[in-house]
Amino acid sequence: MKFISTRGGAPPIGFEQVLLSGPAPDGGLYVPETWPQFTASELAALKGRPYAEIVAAVLAKFADEDWAEQSARVARAVYARFDSPDVAPLVELEPGRYLLELFHGPTLAFKDFALQLVVPLMAEALRRRKERALVLVATSGDTGAAAVAAIANQPSIDLVVLHPLGRISDIQRRQMTTEPSANVHNVAVEGTFDDAQALVKTLFADTAFARAHHLAAVNSINWVRIAAQVAYYMASCLRLGLKPLTFVVPTGNFGDVFAGFVAQKMGAPIARLVVATNSNDILTRAIDTGVYARGQVHATMSPAMDIQVASNFERLIFEAHGRDGATTSKLMAEFAKTGALEFSHAAHEFVRQVFAAASVDEHETLATMTSTFKATHRVVDPHTAVGLAATARLARPEEVVVTLATAHPAKFPDAVAKATGVRPVLPARLKAIVDAPERCTTLPNDAVELKRFIQKI
Ligand SMILES: *Cc1c(COP(=O)(O)O)cnc(C)c1O
Repeated sequence: MKFISTRGGAPPIGFEQVLLSGPAPDGGLYVPETWPQFTASELAALKGRPYAEIVAAVLAKFADEDWAEQSARVARAVYARFDSPDVAPLVELEPGRYLLELFHGPTLAFKDFALQLVVPLMAEALRRRKERALVLVATSGDTGAAAVAAIANQPSIDLVVLHPLGRISDIQRRQMTTEPSANVHNVAVEGTFDDAQALVKTLFADTAFARAHHLAAVNSINWVRIAAQVAYYMASCLRLGLKPLTFVVPTGNFGDVFAGFVAQKMGAPIARLVVATNSNDILTRAIDTGVYARGQVHATMSPAMDIQVASNFERLIFEAHGRDGATTSKLMAEFAKTGALEFSHAAHEFVRQVFAAASVDEHETLATMTSTFKATHRVVDPHTAVGLAATARLARPEEVVVTLATAHPAKFPDAVAKATGVRPVLPARLKAIVDAPERCTTLPNDAVELKRFIQKI
């Protein structure tokens, strides 16, 4: 399988290259040249198989034989470390309403599903090439922790992780800054997540710098991360009997819900995808109106979704406009210049056939955490609560709905205590970080300063 850029101006590349690349040289994102399919009999054969096999089957659709084998080997090893035998367990909340728990990995958020898999694959690619890489990543909270857990002590990879100063929870920060491994470098950026993300993009765009320092990406713009996440949509469909499902996805950068779209493209019986945003509602407005227009970033109790520019949305813009790179390139240039772009009428219709969206404010998020606790005795984190509020608003009675539980409630103890009166118990995996010393450098929102920092590593 070859991968092409959403902006149509970069040569196609293979799986190993896409594994190691950030954005395409023309500024676009890599997507598969064509959409591979699962036949009905292939899907039937996967029913009841272990989670790692489903991951391997998905990756095999994108990788050549050698990398498919590597993916299967790594998947068997890493998903065995999750603390649930189902890896991604489905819990029935009420008839026809399920929660997909994606927080049983080492850092208790869904980001582990992709990073635990992608990092060892990158390390293998580097070993073969006798190269090193410096992974540069911006995090709104959970990607950073997942990247730290996956990359710590990897001999061929350094990690520089940027988080917005003071805008993530204490536990999220400590998960990153208490890692003692010398190849992990934390930077707190004086700005928002979007500022941190823009710094990463600036450094990647400086191709001389990127090459000299072997910059690599593990943000959700990395295609293999998306591919890894396709597997839990597939697994849910298989477990619930291959009848059409609606997924409700707490959304920030549009990576997770795009993986759902990919699963549908590949033949999973997915009826609808509901994008659930907090009060940072750029995606809800875009899906409802066809106008994607940047707004102000508001800090909320679901910080992993405090995003106005959703990197992966470009992949949907590309799909919706008939996979036309020139059109996507023009629209993205307009967005960069004016802060807004408009879908063509046909493209907006395409989006509305698959996607619905809801924006959930702070009051409703908290109220949903409270009501879920009262009704089911389940404590959910604020991101998951945004999803459940969207489910309550948009799910049709006849639909079978799976809401993604994207983080463990213990990562957000203050919000949980406020909503339920219960302080979640910190899982054993997290206890060690509470008193451990932290290592972090604060830098201004400035690309030159960041380059200087990286040059000294
Ligand atoms: C990253 C994250 C999200 C948003 O996922 P995207 O792929 O960026 O849309 C939602 N919830 C939690 C807990 C996250 O960590």
